Amino acid sequence: MNANNNGATTLPRESRLVGCSSDEEPGAKTMIFSQNEIPIQLVSNRSSEFMHRYFPLTTIDSWNDWKWQLRNTITTIEDLKKIMKLSDKEVIAINNLKGRLPLRITPYFASLIYDSKPTNPLRRNVIPVVEELLTSRSEQSDPLHEKESSPVKGIVHRYPDRVLFTVTQVCSNYCRYCTRSHSVGRLDKLGRQDFEKAFGYIASHKEVRDVLISGGDPFTLNDDTLDYILSNIRRIEHVEIIRIGTRIPVVLPQRVTDNLINILKKYQPLFLSLHFMHPDEITEECAKACNKLADGGFPLGSQTVLLKGINDNVPVMMELMHKLLKVRVRPYYLYQCDLIPGSGHFRTTVRKGLEIIKGLRGFTSGYAVPTFVIDAPGGGGKIPLLPPDYVVEHNEEHIVMRNYKGVLCEYPEK
Ligand code: SF4
Repeated sequence: MNANNNGATTLPRESRLVGCSSDEEPGAKTMIFSQNEIPIQLVSNRSSEFMHRYFPLTTIDSWNDWKWQLRNTITTIEDLKKIMKLSDKEVIAINNLKGRLPLRITPYFASLIYDSKPTNPLRRNVIPVVEELLTSRSEQSDPLHEKESSPVKGIVHRYPDRVLFTVTQVCSNYCRYCTRSHSVGRLDKLGRQDFEKAFGYIASHKEVRDVLISGGDPFTLNDDTLDYILSNIRRIEHVEIIRIGTRIPVVLPQRVTDNLINILKKYQPLFLSLHFMHPDEITEECAKACNKLADGGFPLGSQTVLLKGINDNVPVMMELMHKLLKVRVRPYYLYQCDLIPGSGHFRTTVRKGLEIIKGLRGFTSGYAVPTFVIDAPGGGGKIPLLPPDYVVEHNEEHIVMRNYKGVLCEYPEK
């Protein structure tokens, strides 16, 4: 075992077994490992300790193999209890998940929370509590009404020049506040015919210049499937840019392999929208994955959901934004939490989001300030929100503004 200059532990590589597919169903477990991929040879001291304690027969190559991570995800209360003590609220929630968003946690992410308290932000991201079973009147299973804007399976066409393409319902971890909790985690795969219909829809709509590939998490698909999807979209002449929405660098950084980068490079211009929630998610492994993607030449943006008791204060949000910039991810959107069933314990007031933006704007670099948006219930789309105090007066003569220190400034309109 060697320590590298980050203080992380590298272990000697051992022999690998061969061959497998991915796009695993939740809970699928086999012991077949991947081939021809150089895993990132980095395991933090924390993950190393966890691995030796709970996966003592596992090699470092297996740990760093994203397919091994997927096959060994924790999906049952029995497995979860083996690595951590659960609270009563968590036990009740997990035992009553039937028909709801399933439980799924990669061993890597489990290594970040196994010795945490129930209030730990990362733990709250993946382990449900009893409040999740309560639904209020304002909550809906598809709050953004995506089904109504879906002309063919997998495609949501709401905005004039772009479409959302949900290519899988599978994620490596399931976030308890997921907007698509009504569909992710369900065994409703797109078949080859569905993909062909979706490509056909995009090809026949010349106004579509931007395709956002999302899910589920597209990077849980195997390399061949990703290549197939990207090549078919890229050959449509009027598609100018492709975006991929993923949480992989946070929950399964081992997925960011050389092979993945080489596939993505073929389909530039390609942007990645990464999903971050808390500064503690930016570990050595996560940082390495982000830097690798940035080195690959992909602009990286982050999307964050505002969550009560997790990131709903200025110091935590500022730390997250600063850490993102250090790993070359540009903060993009801060979302008001969508009104999905059982999300009441996660939601803050809109006022809280505005306060946070006010606490960032001017107090730190503009690059560190995301746009605060509400994805309007009922399918109204994203609406940006700014604290109202900046504009004090605006008429044909001038605009009077208040800066971040509260000082009034004037700009003439004539
Ligand atoms: S990674 Fe994204 S799609 Fe998957 S559960 Fe989390 S929020 Fe939902």
